[in-house]
Amino acid sequence: MSAGDYYDTLGVPRSADDKEIKKAYRNLARKYHPDVCKDPGAEEKFKEINEAYSVLTDDQKKAQYDNMGHETFTNASKGSYSGAGGQSNGDFHTDFSGFGDIFDFFGGGGQRRAGPQPGADLLMRIQIRLEDAVAGMDREIEVMHSEPCASCSGSGSETKRMNVCPRCGGSGQMRQATNSPFGQFVRMSTCTQCGGKGKIPEKTCKECHGSGHTRVKRKVSVHIPAGIDSGMRLRMEGYGEAGDYGAANGNLFLEVHVQPHNRFVRSGDNLETFIEISPAQAILGTTTEIETIDKRHIDLKIPAGIQFGTALKLGGEGVKRRGKHGDLLVRVKIVTPKSLSGEQKELYQKIAELEGSPSGGSGFFSGIMGKKKPKK
Ligand SMILES: [Zn+2]
Ligand SMILES: [Zn+2]
Repeated sequence: MSAGDYYDTLGVPRSADDKEIKKAYRNLARKYHPDVCKDPGAEEKFKEINEAYSVLTDDQKKAQYDNMGHETFTNASKGSYSGAGGQSNGDFHTDFSGFGDIFDFFGGGGQRRAGPQPGADLLMRIQIRLEDAVAGMDREIEVMHSEPCASCSGSGSETKRMNVCPRCGGSGQMRQATNSPFGQFVRMSTCTQCGGKGKIPEKTCKECHGSGHTRVKRKVSVHIPAGIDSGMRLRMEGYGEAGDYGAANGNLFLEVHVQPHNRFVRSGDNLETFIEISPAQAILGTTTEIETIDKRHIDLKIPAGIQFGTALKLGGEGVKRRGKHGDLLVRVKIVTPKSLSGEQKELYQKIAELEGSPSGGSGFFSGIMGKKKPKK
């Protein structure tokens, strides 16, 4: 990927000394910093500048580079410079065969990218009622997150101006060289002075102490769409933590938990409930009133001879999701009366006699139960 000669990259002659190289680097780094330059390819260019700078300001590497020429030098480090946009996989060890010099430019911080870092995402759990999950709702939630500091517009600097970090020269990275029997081992790590930003406030903001962020509690209006279910997440773009100056905020994710309902249970896009009827209603059939989850009353016809546990369907009364309607399933429970009036008892006895079963006195229930038990 290397574009060309490192001297050309920095626009300096081969005879350039350390001072000239540093000066050229600073000008270019400022110009192409992804924070400043939004041109496509700026990030790539910025990386090339850093690459050139890192080699030409290291006496040992510069000597190797001058001796070997660009082609040979960069080929020896193949892999080390691959990967787009300054993102390396952190832990690669590319051997400069024959030179024993290992280094990576942006790998020091693991996943850290060059340039301003976007804010972190937040995850928040919210509880909603089943009826709200079915119908959808708008709700206000309170979120505690960081925002760009109002006093300094998030720059961290009272003057809103930033200086290039003197410790890392704006790269956000520090070189740490150690000598080993295989040669020099160079590691880049995140600059401790600027935290990898490459810039420090010209005058530290008193409100945020230079962080550029303040913690605030915000009320956010959330639309919870109909049909949402437990475990689903809503993404609220930009409501996460504030990013570095010039970088995007993180996102807020709302993880929904639907509370159990005392009358309805959700099963996919269907709702289930139950009704209780008497044995006579089950035998003869009846019409009963059902209250839907949104509190409307609907007549439900129960056919004669219905069996315990049968589910009757009310089409379209379930969960509405993406324009499709689920059904409401009404399960029938037949409740055996525990006490009877004298007349009821007489009539049941008559039925029992017609069925040819032993009856009378306290034997009535046990007789019925004995016969019906196997049926579920
Ligand atoms: Zn620094
Ligand atoms: Zn501030």
